[in-house]
Parts: sequence; structure tokens; C-alpha cells
Amino acid sequence: MTASMHAAFASTRIVVVATTSDVASLASAVGGDVIEVKTIVPPGTDPEAFEPRVSDLSTLSDADLIVRVGLGYDLWIDKLIIQLHRPEFQAGGGRLVDASIGVPLLEARGRTPVTEDGHAHGLGNPHYWLDPANAETVTATIAERIIRLMPAARDTIVANRNRFLATLHERIVAWMQRLAPYRGASLVAYHNSWPYFARRFHLNLVGFIETKEGVAPSVAHLSSLIAEMGQNGVRAILQEAYEPKNFSEMLSARTGAPLVVLAPTVGSVPEARDYLSLMDFNVGALARTLATGSH
Ligand SMILES: [Zn+2]
Repeated sequence: MTASMHAAFASTRIVVVATTSDVASLASAVGGDVIEVKTIVPPGTDPEAFEPRVSDLSTLSDADLIVRVGLGYDLWIDKLIIQLHRPEFQAGGGRLVDASIGVPLLEARGRTPVTEDGHAHGLGNPHYWLDPANAETVTATIAERIIRLMPAARDTIVANRNRFLATLHERIVAWMQRLAPYRGASLVAYHNSWPYFARRFHLNLVGFIETKEGVAPSVAHLSSLIAEMGQNGVRAILQEAYEPKNFSEMLSARTGAPLVVLAPTVGSVPEARDYLSLMDFNVGALARTLATGSH
């Protein structure tokens, strides 16, 4: 190989296609300049209601590595992968990364996910990236798989991840301090997106406006939720940026609990530009709401 060929080889970046902005951001944090990241679910779109388009197949055909959330959250990627006709991207083929591997799951129910209606919470609650401590496991999984494809980039990838983790650990301390005054606060959410977040920050989720993923609540459910909110002294209603606001506003008016819009994914509000700013936004928005409510 000539020197120029070596240079050309060294400058080739691998293409990582991520199903969602959250795993895309974590892949970027470790891959840095070594990889080019493409995301399938467009910014500002609810990943849980996403349906793949024909153009997603051409995005996927550029991939060297595919990163998925797993746990039934992005089941649609399986159909696209079948259409790719490239066995290396099928399960066990080495180029499909399930980012949930090794993450301690909440609400694991040991049954297979339901395939209709976009996403399901069948194998365990899939919103695991909302516990910032889980980013450590997810970045380890992604880093290991990139290094396997690009052994020469090992030192760079390891250094990128160490730098990301140093910032993450600092921020986790700050986020814990910010929410410490509200330890044990009771909350209601529209969708069941926050069990990992709540567990990390010692918050108490007592109910959901949705009774089933993606299904609007009944009047009977809302009445019993209002009663429960009173009994538990619910201090805020978490509203995911993508979900309809009318039910949360009604509950807020009836119970006096303030409504706070949180970002379940990177890009769901403009402030959540990447993984760290996603967590910054959620911790800050919730802390401000709970501080107002306590006076
Ligand atoms: Zn969900």
C-alpha cells in the first residue's frame, strides 16, 4: 500500500445509522470524527409513533453499523433490515447493535413485544436512556462495536468515551443536587416515559394519563386519576413534548398540580440538542416547576 492509500484508508469514516436521536447522540459522543452518524427518525418527530419511509431504506443501505434502542421501541427497523438483504445486519450478524444490552431493565415482564401500534413496552420499559447513569453502559456497548470494525481507531474511541464520561459524571452530581430538595415528590406523567429518570432522582411516579401506550384515556380513568392525585399530593404533571396537552391541562386545572413539558428524546424541544443538554433541560424544567409549586 502506498502512503497516499494509507492516508485515504485512515480518513475513511464508518457510517453509523441510529434509529433515534438519543442513541445517535451517544454514538457521536464515542465515535467523534471517526464515524458519520445518520438518524432515521427525523428531529421533531415522536419516535414512538414513527413509521419508516422508502427513503429510510436508502439511508440504511449506507450503514456500516446500525444502532437500535431495542426492547420493542423501534421494532420497525427489523422490517427495513429484512428488505436490505444483508445478513450481516440481522441479529447475530455483527453489525446490528442493540443499545439496551447490559442495561438493568425496569418493568421487565418476560413476554414478547406487541407488534401493532408503533411501539410497545413488552420486554421492559424501553426509555432507559433517561437515567443518565445508563449512558455509561450504552456508550460501552457502542464503543466496543465501533472498535471491532475499526481496530485502528481504538485509542481515539476510548479517549472520546472517557471525556464524555468525565462530563457525564460531573453533571450527574449536579443533577442529583438540583433535584435533591424534591426527593420523594409524587408525579403523574402522560406516557410511561420516566421510570428510569424517576428512580435515579428519587421521584415517585404515581400514575399515567394514558392507560395503554398510544391510547387516549377514558373519562372513568381520568376521574380516578384525579382522586389518586389528591390522595398522593401530586406535585407536577409531566407532559412529554409530543403528547396531546388537553388531558394534562384539564387535570392541572382540576388538581392545581402544575404542568411541566419535558423532553423524552433529543430534539423533542429545541434546548435538547444532544444527550447532555437533554438531561440538563429535563432536570432544570422539573426543578423550576417543583420549586414554584412548593411556595
Ligand atoms: Zn414509551
